[in-house]
Amino acid sequence: MKVLVLNCGSSSLKYQLINMENETVLAKGIAERIGIDGSFVKHEPAGQDKHVINTPLNNHKDAIKVVLDALVDDNHGVLKNLDEINAVGHRVVHAGEKFSGSVMIDQDVIDALEECSDLAPLHNPPNLMGIYACQEILSDVPMVGVFDTAFHQTMPKSSYLYALPYELYETYRIRRYGFHGTSHKYVALKTAELLGKPIEELKLVTCHLGNGASMTAVMYGQSVDTTMGFTPLEGLVMGTRCGDIDPAIISFVMEKENIDINEMNNIMNKKSGVLGISGVSSDFRDIEEAAEAGNERAKVALQVFYKKVTKYIGAYAAEMGGLDAIVFTAGLGENSDLARSEICKTLSFMGATIDEKKNKGVRGKESIISTDDSTVKIVLMPTNEELMIARETKSLIS
Ligand code: ADP
Repeated sequence: MKVLVLNCGSSSLKYQLINMENETVLAKGIAERIGIDGSFVKHEPAGQDKHVINTPLNNHKDAIKVVLDALVDDNHGVLKNLDEINAVGHRVVHAGEKFSGSVMIDQDVIDALEECSDLAPLHNPPNLMGIYACQEILSDVPMVGVFDTAFHQTMPKSSYLYALPYELYETYRIRRYGFHGTSHKYVALKTAELLGKPIEELKLVTCHLGNGASMTAVMYGQSVDTTMGFTPLEGLVMGTRCGDIDPAIISFVMEKENIDINEMNNIMNKKSGVLGISGVSSDFRDIEEAAEAGNERAKVALQVFYKKVTKYIGAYAAEMGGLDAIVFTAGLGENSDLARSEICKTLSFMGATIDEKKNKGVRGKESIISTDDSTVKIVLMPTNEELMIARETKSLIS
């Protein structure tokens, strides 16, 4: 079985074609600048050179057509015929409270996702554009929606309710939803495999530390709390997002700086985080380099970031009444031994002791990086959201 995984953003479309017989990637790529001058598709067939197709892409439908043509192209294609695609798995960011798992996409699902669009105005509309485009072009191929929010639907009300008037929850569904669910679920399952224990017996804290960053308390296989909330802005300090702040700051800054809510949102989403504090970059590699060279703001940006992660590890261990493993994943979590070391350096008191030799220089490789006698294991687990989407798609259509 071959599954095409699509992740449609506002002006981009990422894809992977996965052979589910052996879970290998046959081809992957990205269409960029959709609806903007200078659009192109970068197509990477497995084991062959990258191929760039410069062509106007007016919308997601154009992009999908070019991607499908590339997949069956005589020179850089990997399929003889599009009939070989058995299913399409769509990454969809927000499913509100409607779905607690992946679903086959039909008209009812599409209507439900349209209803959620005002909860994720930047993400859901392009995700839906991808679904509509596939309906037209690949009309006979079954489609599955895999939602970033779904894994967190198991959170108890005590984790997801804000202390706002209850009517705001009832009327507008203002609550914590959580995101990166596909990644948290994937690394939690893989960690259980690595530790050789059933996930139903494990208390894990999964740390997805990339440009966007979030952590989840995974208790016995279910998300019971997570750092992102109503939107992905809540929780950890991120590349450019502020994470948790005192909400009173918002009106204070708007008044002092004489700016409107759009500009304020822009500041909190695009100009804050480690970029905002350091003034250097949103990329952790640049900030680590600047800190190393003595830049004080870069140093403090990293310390603020690390401290927040450490705090949530402690909070979630307390919330779950114990902890079996701390799991690091995504760009920073998988690649930065410095970040892992700094985050874990005070955790020995609770039985989580990092082994600096095992931690040093390990990148993107599944491994246990705690000392042998550490009762809480510290794990590096590369994420693979596309594979998780393909697996969910396969299990639903089979
Ligand atoms: P996203 O998918 O949210 O864009 P990623 O999971 O790709 O994010 O993570 C990107 C982040 O990972 C960047 O900030 C980058 O600096 C960081 N990163 C990647 N490799 C390294 C590394 N070797 N050292 C430190 N940070 C790294």
